[in-house]
Amino acid sequence: MEIQNYCPSLTSYSRWITREVKIGDVGIGADNPIRIQSMTTTNTMNTDATIEQSIRMIKAGCEIVRITAPSIKEAENLRIISNGLRSQGYKTPLVADIHYTPNAAEVAARIVEKVRINPGNFADRKKFVTHEYTDKSYDDELERIRDRFLPLVLVCKEYGTAIRIGTNHGSLSDRILSRYGDTPLGMVESAMEFIRICRDVDFHDIVLSMKASNTQVMVQAYRLSVNMMNAEEMNYPLHLGVTEAGEGEDGRLKSAVGIGTLLEDGLGDTIRVSLTEEPEEEIPVAQLLVERYANGIEHQFIEPIEEIPYDPYFRERRKTNQITNIGGDNVPRVVGDLSNIKNINPEHLAPFGYNYSISADKWQLSEQAADYLYVGVGKIDFELPGTLAVIQDAESWSGLPDHFPMFTVQNYLDAVNPSDVLNFVTLTLNDVTQATLAALEDDPTIVIVADTNHFYSLAEQRKLFVELMRREITAPVLIRRKYSATTKDLFMIYSAIDFGGLQMDGFGDGIWAQSTLDAGLMNETLFGILQASRTRISKTEYISCPSCGRTLFDLQETTSKIRARTDHLKGVKIGIMGCIVNGPGEMADADYGYVGTGVDKISLYKGQEIIQRNIPSEGAVEALIDLIRRHNDWVEPEAV
Ligand code: SF4
Repeated sequence: MEIQNYCPSLTSYSRWITREVKIGDVGIGADNPIRIQSMTTTNTMNTDATIEQSIRMIKAGCEIVRITAPSIKEAENLRIISNGLRSQGYKTPLVADIHYTPNAAEVAARIVEKVRINPGNFADRKKFVTHEYTDKSYDDELERIRDRFLPLVLVCKEYGTAIRIGTNHGSLSDRILSRYGDTPLGMVESAMEFIRICRDVDFHDIVLSMKASNTQVMVQAYRLSVNMMNAEEMNYPLHLGVTEAGEGEDGRLKSAVGIGTLLEDGLGDTIRVSLTEEPEEEIPVAQLLVERYANGIEHQFIEPIEEIPYDPYFRERRKTNQITNIGGDNVPRVVGDLSNIKNINPEHLAPFGYNYSISADKWQLSEQAADYLYVGVGKIDFELPGTLAVIQDAESWSGLPDHFPMFTVQNYLDAVNPSDVLNFVTLTLNDVTQATLAALEDDPTIVIVADTNHFYSLAEQRKLFVELMRREITAPVLIRRKYSATTKDLFMIYSAIDFGGLQMDGFGDGIWAQSTLDAGLMNETLFGILQASRTRISKTEYISCPSCGRTLFDLQETTSKIRARTDHLKGVKIGIMGCIVNGPGEMADADYGYVGTGVDKISLYKGQEIIQRNIPSEGAVEALIDLIRRHNDWVEPEAV
């Protein structure tokens, strides 16, 4: 496998060229714009509600609308929904979402413009059991799948309907799991089996997706899928998404890290930002993501990378020295910026997670307390908590034990009296010369602060990491980015891509953002990006589905209730799923699961094991908390 064969170039932005697939009148792939899509959350049998919601989505900018079709009756109702939309002048193509029901897919394929199937559950059953498959029994299963899938392909071919082969990390079939495990390779192979069947009958209106709620798995699976398509001379368009991303800022950051990393690679022809919110709320987030790449990225030349010294399909953190609490096995550090404040007092530290209690005469730290504060030419002259240290510009360095200097490379080379513990040295790719690298090589006190002013900044900074790796320089690196004249929403999306994209490749021992935005917002965002990248966990992780027509309770309200009771459980992963059909599989990664099983009925899970079945929804949140308690993951929230 040629390792670099997953994107056109790591140093020169361009989109991976795919074939065009038409979804009705909307083209995906080739030189079409990156399309934005979403999914309805209404009951598909409620025709009016589904049409009204679709119209709200379309008006917000949704270019393709997906609707669940759990059985033949919903699939048939898609005709009435489609006619209803068309009669009001809305030509937006519709997609039927299918799980477990090939017969519903064949009905829907005659009505709508695209059918999404999940190869993990189209013809395979998912029983969470491990079978031993011989080559023969594996091939027999494949033959069975072929018999089940081929009729749908032939209907699609006849009606000009496209197919999305939509693999989800959480719902790989037992057969795929038995051979490939719970891996990106298993996800890709699962889709490739279905693609090969399509190709055998010369059907090519295929779109591919490789979703996971774990952003690292998701990025690796998409990259691997392109590598394998290239190897087999295929180029089907990609639908990008982070599944079960959750709600609010967490959901936005997770989506931006996963989708944005791949868009930076030049991959992705249509995207869905999946939030546990009204579907039209997803569209502005998707638009911010897409707009960043809408006109390509005009940028200065970056010397190509001849050989990648890391594995883009398996994240391993770049090996670095440990210097104080930076690098080595330490979690990535967060730097707060106070350089624009004169006369810093304890209150200025509150947005960074440090609250000074005068009555108790001590600092109270939040789970998202920054590790370093940069004060520029300023200083802090009151006692700091032991977890916090200060970065000062070298010319103003006070020499206090918890204060450390920051130099330019040249100033550091000329410095007479640097710290003998920790020196921060700013570096851009342009500064990388034989002389500077030689100076960095064996100095055990240097932490590099990587800066960039490049338009294709992620690629430029990645190249810097590659140069350091090539020279076996193991100094830790803090990634610093400036965001001027920006809005809160743009900052969140762009910083998630810039920092998260590098974290996906194992790069960065700390992150540092500079902007005039609210300091607390920036601090929370940086911690949120690390959480979304799964490199530093500072809060509860919610894996909640966006809900769809299968959901029989108010998922948004329930998610809020669960969050209100559990958001102090740092590191605990809670799945909140709208249906029993897909929920347990999709939340495969969660420690605890709250899954809708019927009207007012909930089942609770510990990992993949069902613990309480069909309990009334009233009281189910308390039962979930009891379950967490019984497994010793509960802590009482601190009194406010
Ligand atoms: S898990 Fe949620 S989004 Fe997925 S099918 Fe079930 S209810 Fe719909």
